[in-house]
Amino acid sequence: MASRANSPEFRDVAVHLHPYTNARKHEEKGAMVIERGEGIYVYDTAGKQYIEGLAGLWSVAVGFGQPRLVKAAADQLAKLPYYHSFAHKSHEPSIALSEKLLQLAPGKMSKVFYTSSGSEANDTAVKLVWYYNNALGRPHKKKIIARIKGYHGITIASGSLTGLPYNHRDFDLPIANIMHTACPHHYRYAWEGESEEEFASRLAGQLDEMIQREGPDTVAAFIGEPVMGAGGVIVPPATYWEKIQKVCRKHDVLIIADEVINGFGRTGKLFGSNLYGIEPDMVVMSKALTSSYLPLSALLMNQKVYDGIADNTAKIGTFGHGFTASGHPAATAVALENIKIIEEQDLVANAAKQGEILQRRLRALADHPLVGEVRGVGMIAAVEFVADKKTKAPFDPAGAVGQYCFDRCQEHGLILRNLGDTVAFCPPLIIDEAQMNELLDRFETALAETLDWANSKGMA
Ligand code: PMP
Repeated sequence: MASRANSPEFRDVAVHLHPYTNARKHEEKGAMVIERGEGIYVYDTAGKQYIEGLAGLWSVAVGFGQPRLVKAAADQLAKLPYYHSFAHKSHEPSIALSEKLLQLAPGKMSKVFYTSSGSEANDTAVKLVWYYNNALGRPHKKKIIARIKGYHGITIASGSLTGLPYNHRDFDLPIANIMHTACPHHYRYAWEGESEEEFASRLAGQLDEMIQREGPDTVAAFIGEPVMGAGGVIVPPATYWEKIQKVCRKHDVLIIADEVINGFGRTGKLFGSNLYGIEPDMVVMSKALTSSYLPLSALLMNQKVYDGIADNTAKIGTFGHGFTASGHPAATAVALENIKIIEEQDLVANAAKQGEILQRRLRALADHPLVGEVRGVGMIAAVEFVADKKTKAPFDPAGAVGQYCFDRCQEHGLILRNLGDTVAFCPPLIIDEAQMNELLDRFETALAETLDWANSKGMA
């Protein structure tokens, strides 16, 4: 007999601690169980269709139900379902994928190290930066500077790099040697009348001071997302990356580009680094690398970093780092096919083209009474709600308007993501013009209802 307890929504509640979920609220609400996906759409167990306006978690670039990725995985699983890459072993998909990634990557990358998640890749980046400096006889050059509101994952080191309170609070993070510099959000943090360029100069100056204060011989690396994602979709001010890179180079500080969201076309360029002329020493990729059909991440490094590491492995006798699933054959085979689709269908150009509609229609909402700022580039964007457009004062309680809007979107068949009172957009790169307009129509309906609700509560 059907009952609440044996519905999938509440069987889930009985057994599952969810990531990024209020566990007690989940016990009351039950799970939203998604059953299948096709193109830009997913369907719940009642058969209701949703546009996946965040591509899952900023990741399903080629859309759901892509048969070529299913075939690539199945063929590889049938041929060689698993092999590792320890102790000189390799297999064709990981070799071919490395060749491809080195050909596409920003900067001059020399080698690829495989992991399974963005967090693991960033954890590995921290370890390699430390290993590299030990190898070079600079045991004090260990500090890594990330940014407030940056997102780099949730493992102990990558969670420390992340600059968001939820990821530190009560987890006893950040660990030692990880520091955070200012967030490059002009709308929120620029002084009155300060231009983007002036703001960028001030932030670069702050970074320079931080490195001088700590001692350049103790600062090893700077990590950043070209366009910040999970911290609220923050597009850096003009000249920011140029100035930040100059400071890093002056102090012999490695630059790590976290391309986990930006990579493979999201910003309308192949990588966010291409958009801003970033010449990284290390590049982190995941998410759209396989369109998240299988877990895979890659950490690329330049020749200088590789040489430091390689010399040390020769001295010690081995490289004491690696995962059972590093370069997993099915995941690397799927990544290769996924990149082929991105190239064949020119999805980077599509991101730029449909992104233009996304940016234009969202920016047309700038005068809406709830909207403080609309921001984004290519096919990533956000709308931030504020209580007072003039003073930019946030709503009290924080997040309630964002949550209400998110819920209304879902009611109208659109899944987005609310980061407090900021609603983020990041649809699959395959979206076409009609679908993009449909997505925005659904959002505008939800936004109108959110305004009615805020008015009824005396908030707007
Ligand atoms: N870096 C960035 C820029 C991310 O957006 C994310 C995930 N949202 C991560 C790292 C961490 O990836 P994962 O969740 O796969 O550990």
